[in-house]
Order: sequence, then C-alpha cells, then structure tokens
Amino acid sequence: MSKLYVKAAREKVKEKPNVNVTWRFFDSDLLDRIQSKEIERDPTTGWKIGQYRLDTGHFEFFLARKFGFCYGVKLAIWDSLSALDKYPGQRVIALSEMIHNPYVNDELRRRGAIFMDESEMTLDDIAPADVVIIPAFGTTMTNFEMLRQLKERGCTLIDTTCRSVIDVWDRVSEYNQIGFCSLIHGKSEHEETIATASVAQTYLVVRDLDDTALVCDFICGRLSEQELLERFYGACSEGFQPSRDLCRIGMANQTTMRSSESEEVFGMLREAVIEAYGEPEVDAHFQALDTICRATEVRQQAVIEMGQSTQLDLMLVVGGLNSSNTKNLAKIAQKYTQAYHIEGAWSFDGDQIRHLIYGDSAFTVSEDWLPDSGRIGITAGASTPDNTVGDVLEKILMLRPE
Ligand code: SF4
Repeated sequence: MSKLYVKAAREKVKEKPNVNVTWRFFDSDLLDRIQSKEIERDPTTGWKIGQYRLDTGHFEFFLARKFGFCYGVKLAIWDSLSALDKYPGQRVIALSEMIHNPYVNDELRRRGAIFMDESEMTLDDIAPADVVIIPAFGTTMTNFEMLRQLKERGCTLIDTTCRSVIDVWDRVSEYNQIGFCSLIHGKSEHEETIATASVAQTYLVVRDLDDTALVCDFICGRLSEQELLERFYGACSEGFQPSRDLCRIGMANQTTMRSSESEEVFGMLREAVIEAYGEPEVDAHFQALDTICRATEVRQQAVIEMGQSTQLDLMLVVGGLNSSNTKNLAKIAQKYTQAYHIEGAWSFDGDQIRHLIYGDSAFTVSEDWLPDSGRIGITAGASTPDNTVGDVLEKILMLRPE
C-alpha cells in the first residue's frame, strides 16, 4: 500500500469529538508536589537529566525524570472521554482495549465504553447510530476499509491512531514502493504490529535477537528456506518466499520496542547483508530507519540514567500486564537492581508482591520484597496514569510509616 493509500484510508474515517473533558481523575497530588521541584539539568542544553526525589527519612524515592502517559495515549484517552460526553445515549465502541492499562480501561468502561473484543462483537454488528473508536495503536487496512463503509451508512468514527505509528506506516509504504520487504522488529501478536504488517506488501516480524540471528543465517546461506518458513510461521506475509523477499529488506519497528535491541537488530542485519553481497551493495539490499517513538526512547533513557547514577535497593515499574513498553522498561531496570513490574498499589502488601517477570505471561508472587528503609526507584509505562503511580508511593509510606 502506498503512503497516499494509507493517508486516504484514514482521512475517510477522521472525525474529532472536540469537547472539553476533565482530566483530574488521572492526576496525583503527591506526584505533582514531587515533580514541582527543580531537578538537575544539562548545563549546555538545559534538558532535565536528574531524577525527582522524595526523602522521607527512612526511604529515599527516586522518580524517573520522564514516565507515564505519552502524548499518543493522552490524545487517545482524551478523544474517548470526549466521545462519551458528546454522544450520550449512543453506543461508543472501541475496536479493542483503548490502551494497555487496566485502570484506564476500567474508567472508560465505567463511563459506558464497550470494547469490541470483550463483547464478542465484530464490525458486522455495528449499527449506523454507533460511535466507533480506533485505538492509539491503530488497526489494519482491511478494518479501515470496513470502517469507511460503516461511515457511509451513518456511523461516527473516531481515529486516535498515534502520529508516531503513522510514521511507521509511512516508512513501510515507502518500502512497498521501492520493492523492499518490510522486516518489522516487534511482536507479531501486538495490535500495532498487526496493523503495521497490514500496510506492507511483504513482511517478516522478528521479535528479538534470536529471531534476527535466524534471518541473518538465511541471508548468509546457513539456513534453508524451509527451516526459516517453519520458524516464522504466522509471522510473515501470505505467500512469503524467503529467497525472493529477503533479497531486499527495509527495517521498521513496533514503536515501543527496546531501543538498544533495535540497534542490535539493525547491526546484525547490516553485517549479514555485507557478508552476502559485499559492502558497496548494502544500500541496494538493506534500508533502515529507527521508528521507535520518541516517548518510548525518553522513558527508557530515563531508567538507564537513574540506574547508572543511583545505587537503588529496588525499582518499581508500574504498568499493565500486556503493556509492551512497560515490559521493556522493567527489562532495562533489571540490569541495575531488583526490578518489579507491577500493575498498581493493589499488586502488593507488606510481605507479598504480585509482579511480572520479563518473558512470562502471568504474574509471579514474591515474598519479603519491601525493606524497612532504602532507596527505591520508580518509573511507569506510557499508558500508566499518574494517580496509579502516586497510589503506589502512598501505599509504601502507609506500609512503612516513619
Ligand atoms: S508509545 Fe509512542 S507510538 Fe505508542 S501511543 Fe505513545 S507516543 Fe504513540
């Protein structure tokens, strides 16, 4: 699909509810107070480089200089709340969970939003009076076409696809035009990657460095076509032919992947292409553009800086169970200290903590996690509201009063 096709598909469904809604219930007074203090800045650029700090005598809390809601999530929630206000009495249906955070999704449900995947609906069940919301991670081109037809029948459509996701689609459209196969660094089951793959004429999804090593082995003639196809079953386009499609590859990312891993994927593929075709031929066989979004990068960098500058006893990484960017923050944090990926204040009490270990799909319960004093780092994924983080802090203070 071309860039113009993608743009046109979205233009046809675009509508903005544009009413004023209150944001207060996602805020935290405690975090506002902590973040109102000045933190260290780079003397040259003036950018914040330190962490926010709260010293309670027995605990020192360090808050990453950037965490929580990103611009794409904020806009998606804002548009959803606006739609619920603007169309009272009409069904407001999101194609799936709006974002990967249980608290925010519960709030939207409480206000009347319906999530299509939970209610076993399909697009065929949409009525002309309904309002349909496309989440921040977008949807497939097939769905955009079906939504266009629904709009013609009178249905109201609100597209909250994030600008950074559309940038990836634009990049993939460029690969289509020059006849390159899109190699997507992402999770093949993630909504955003499914949507991005739908833009590509041909694609292959690599999840991690092990997947990338297999692709490199194929490019360099060390792995057969059959072996590659078996390994990537379900993670490539229909009719994918490695010998034809992997001759020219263009790399793109799911926007929330770990930036450092994406750099490694890029380096490995480039080396393989050099080995197979020689350095002067690289550009004819391999192109890449970093499509990790800025919000993801900044949050990851803030965790790295906190881990490097401060000797922490533990770090809490707050975010939904299925939030890809939160998982990646936890993976980074784990390099520096004991890190716990938790959903919120309800995930722990004094002795036990319910947390996600990277790579697992269900929570683990650990004991004796909270010391009586020490240094605790805190960060949160791009879909976590401030009040969830603030509640975590307040509960620790309640469990271990001075
Ligand atoms: S994480 Fe990035 S791509 Fe995803 S919604 Fe936020 S800003 Fe957009």
